[in-house]
Amino acid sequence: MDGTVAVIGGGSTGTGIARDLAMRGFDVTLVEKGNLTHGTTGRMHGLLHSGGRYAVSDRSSARECIEENRVLREIATHCVEMTGGLFVQKEGDADEYFEEKLEGCRECDIPAEVVSGKEAREIEPYLAKDVKRAIRVPDGAIDPFRLCVANAASAIEHGARIETHAKVTDVLVEDGEVVGVEVEHESGPGKRVHRKPGTTEEIRADYVVNATGAWAGRVGAMAGVDVEVRPSKGVMVVMNTRQVDTVVNRCRPKGDADIIVPHETAAILGTTDEEVEDPEDYPEEGWEVDLMIDTLSELVPILKDARTIRSFWGVRPLYEPPGTGTTDPTDITRDFFLLDHEERDDLPGLTSIVGGKFTTYRLMAEKISDHVCEQFGVEAECRTADEPLPGSEDIGNLEEYMDEFGLRSPIAKRSTKRLGSFSPQVLGGSNPNPVVCTCEAVTSAEIDKAIDESGTDLNAVRLRTRASMGNCQGAFCCQGIASQLHPTYDEPTVRDAYDELYQERWKGERHGLWGEQLSQAALKYALHATTLNRDRDPAARESDLDFAAFDDGRSTDDVEPDTSRGTRETAADGGRLPPNEGPDGDS
Ligand SMILES: Cc1cc2nc3c(=O)[nH]c(=O)nc-3n(C[C@H](O)[C@H](O)[C@H](O)COP(=O)(O)OP(=O)(O)OC[C@H]3O[C@@H](n4cnc5c(N)ncnc54)[C@H](O)[C@@H]3O)c2cc1C
Repeated sequence: MDGTVAVIGGGSTGTGIARDLAMRGFDVTLVEKGNLTHGTTGRMHGLLHSGGRYAVSDRSSARECIEENRVLREIATHCVEMTGGLFVQKEGDADEYFEEKLEGCRECDIPAEVVSGKEAREIEPYLAKDVKRAIRVPDGAIDPFRLCVANAASAIEHGARIETHAKVTDVLVEDGEVVGVEVEHESGPGKRVHRKPGTTEEIRADYVVNATGAWAGRVGAMAGVDVEVRPSKGVMVVMNTRQVDTVVNRCRPKGDADIIVPHETAAILGTTDEEVEDPEDYPEEGWEVDLMIDTLSELVPILKDARTIRSFWGVRPLYEPPGTGTTDPTDITRDFFLLDHEERDDLPGLTSIVGGKFTTYRLMAEKISDHVCEQFGVEAECRTADEPLPGSEDIGNLEEYMDEFGLRSPIAKRSTKRLGSFSPQVLGGSNPNPVVCTCEAVTSAEIDKAIDESGTDLNAVRLRTRASMGNCQGAFCCQGIASQLHPTYDEPTVRDAYDELYQERWKGERHGLWGEQLSQAALKYALHATTLNRDRDPAARESDLDFAAFDDGRSTDDVEPDTSRGTRETAADGGRLPPNEGPDGDS
């Protein structure tokens, strides 16, 4: 096939499109300005919707959700945990709404069963005592990172080029037609390099798909067309353990803070819905975190006393056809829209896909790939609903793998779940396979596999394995993960990669620094700053340190006094502190 397509955006939608088009025989290049999942996909709640949430307000979205929920359970087994979900009614919550929700679920073919308050508490013992009843639905938890990586891997297997850290700076228009994109290649510490950093490349394509979500308006503007995305931010708060094992939703009309999703070893509280101007620059405020805990502890009271390990924000790529005039972002449909710019703006060669949800990413990709096929007169069928993603082939019974490796431990169980059908290849080696990240039970072999796939980018390793994402937030494992880069990579590269991972872990902790989490954070700082010297790393210093003097045990009397400090300082272990390098020094 000679059709070349450039897909812009490496979130769920873009990677899903790249996979679908590559499977249908197109020559696909996907460009993403950050790493895969850099945008909203890496900052969502992790809920595989059953559709129950939209069963009253948006039934077409609800139907799409349940259909895709069923598909993803089949094709992405190793990314999905079928936790089940409860729509919980408390005393005082409207009966009419509960009935409407139930009826909506039934109309949309969402399996829904009413359970009493007592039964709901048997399923979830920490639910509030005044829970009256609940509707049980097939909600689940889904790992967006593994899912996108699996889509990208499948696209590559079908011949696609996936280019991360490649920002589209221009959409090329010639004679009134889109003919490709211009990208700037970037690199830096720990980043995977495909092309020379700092260079610009023109990627010529017969067709361009704009799958940049909340950024779609900006990319549209490069081509001179208006795409009216309405970015809407939401906060999510990560709790230290799974306070619930089922997705718990409050059964009442739209509101903030009404979902708890159990996700791997944590529970994620969310969320809010507030329109913002800029998808990259918006306030992240402490009161938003408080609101999640205060409101959701009405449903699950132990949340009030639990530890918040981090928080993060994402922006929804909401879209409304022009002229609808909705002022409240919670009223904007969660449906998706395909904007053919030839039809809309008389600009052939470009289509944008906007709106939608993570749960429906595959369907969105199918629709846009059908559309691209039409442009080329290609009849190839979509196969993405039937062919499992890499890692999900033949893993019907993960327990069999456990037997195969003689493993019965929870660690092995978690590893095999994460690795899916890659388990034999990764865990089957004869080398020792210690656990490197103890909170998430990630073993050395898994980290090696992720390094093979993503190079020195330890945040990409984290996303593939979950290493450093648990209770300690990297306090005990960042350095161990980084040291696995050696000896393949040299020492400065390893140090830079370690710093990048460590800083990324701090970023999300800032809003939850109280109580036990403050102690945990102080411990982490002490470990890395002092024990591992990350605040004043001697190896990163420009002037050469005379380590020999320290190692030889030379007396501090041999050294010229540092008069600038008034008194000379001696380190606690008897070694010499370097100039301007004391407890208050600024190196
Ligand atoms: C708070 C919140 C919670 C959510 N929870 C859920 C949930 O639980 N379940 C669910 O189903 N959905 C959920 N969603 C919705 C879901 O996350 C999004 O609909 C989905 O992730 C959007 O994916 P996308 O690929 O379209 O966009 P993105 O993931 O944002 O991908 C677009 C990509 O384009 C890239 N890009 C932008 N500009 C350029 C450029 N110039 N050059 C190259 N690349 C560029 C970005 O870096 C980004 O990676 C939630 C959304 C939010 C905000």
